[in-house]
Amino acid sequence: MSSSLNPKRTVAELKELRALTGDENGAQRVAFTETWLKARGWLRQKVVGLPLEIHEDAAGNTWFTLRGESEKALLIGGHMDSVPNGGWLDGCLNVLAGVEILRRIHAQFHGKPPVTVRLVDWADEEGARFGKSLFGSSACSGNLDMNEARVLVDKGGIKLPDALKNVGIDFERVKDSGAELKNAAAYLELHIEQGPVLLDLDLPLGAVLGTFGVERHAITFHGQAAHSGSTPMNRRKDAFLAAARLSPEVYRIAERSGNGVCTIGSCTTKPGIVTSVIEECRITLDQRHLDVAALAKMLHEARAASEIFAQEGNLSVSWERLWQIAPRPFNDELINLCDEAIRETCGKSHRLPSGPLHDAAEVAAAGVPTVMMFVQSLHGISHNKIEDTKEEHLEMCVTAFDKLAEKVMTSIFKTL
Ligand SMILES: [Zn+2]
Repeated sequence: MSSSLNPKRTVAELKELRALTGDENGAQRVAFTETWLKARGWLRQKVVGLPLEIHEDAAGNTWFTLRGESEKALLIGGHMDSVPNGGWLDGCLNVLAGVEILRRIHAQFHGKPPVTVRLVDWADEEGARFGKSLFGSSACSGNLDMNEARVLVDKGGIKLPDALKNVGIDFERVKDSGAELKNAAAYLELHIEQGPVLLDLDLPLGAVLGTFGVERHAITFHGQAAHSGSTPMNRRKDAFLAAARLSPEVYRIAERSGNGVCTIGSCTTKPGIVTSVIEECRITLDQRHLDVAALAKMLHEARAASEIFAQEGNLSVSWERLWQIAPRPFNDELINLCDEAIRETCGKSHRLPSGPLHDAAEVAAAGVPTVMMFVQSLHGISHNKIEDTKEEHLEMCVTAFDKLAEKVMTSIFKTL
């Protein structure tokens, strides 16, 4: 069926892209820069010869469309942009696997598949320059906060709308890109895992259940500064003590939650001198879970624990929400098909949630049935030049992802 699929070609193209847009410090395809434009120009060269309609939408996402018998479309997505000094696979693996699948489908159906197949290269997934991830896909999904985005400034003082204007994008119209999702029947995204789960299980591929919801809070304990020599231990109102007791408690909360994670990522103290009991201790807590109720429970438990520790220490505690995002569970039927495609390719699959956000989360939020496939990351690391995946796993992921595309195309066709 997929006799013309050539996963080795994908690996070769990834190396070609690395040579063209990377240096000794890693990938340099930061969105809206010259190198990014060069990578995108190179990508267009790669599909010359395929009968694709190619256009950029209002948010700068590039769409490669292979028209089928039906307008109903299977979407495959990725991003050519990288962080500065990034890895050679993050984002572009997805796009180049998509190119290979377009070639296979074109050959198999003589240019006219039963359903339309579209590859999208999202603009500025990483948010490396303006600190806002998922720009192109959130514009497309309609979730982009225009007032927040309008005033984003890069290190050089350039505003996002001006940077966009420079590459021919009118900021005020970016949400017009939502029209692209009109006939979308399913969205698929392949990605390196960027974590150690598949590596630790010694499995090449996994089916992604969705992206974690996040609750991010600052917690401040308020006590009393007192002399470290003259204040007996039983008379202290030590704000740090309560924060410290919360630390192992959040590990227990995460453990009880099943697959959730909790991180106390920062701790600042006042007065912060060696000779005083701590008067004020501010910590940040980041909690993530795939299940909305479990996430709410983790938050509730952390809050309750903080109040108990505050009370026991004669302190008060206050909470401030810094950021939150809902979990984005993927489509059950597509998760099953992804699992099946993986098992057919390498015998064993694993289902796992995604800690990082991806463009797929935005497409899922827009109501398009979505799934992602992960391929193992060596060292479990990404956003770093040492990011890597075994070549045999790269080839395997292209094969499995192609099988998934075929299965989804068939299932879309059945519903016509
Ligand atoms: Zn990525």
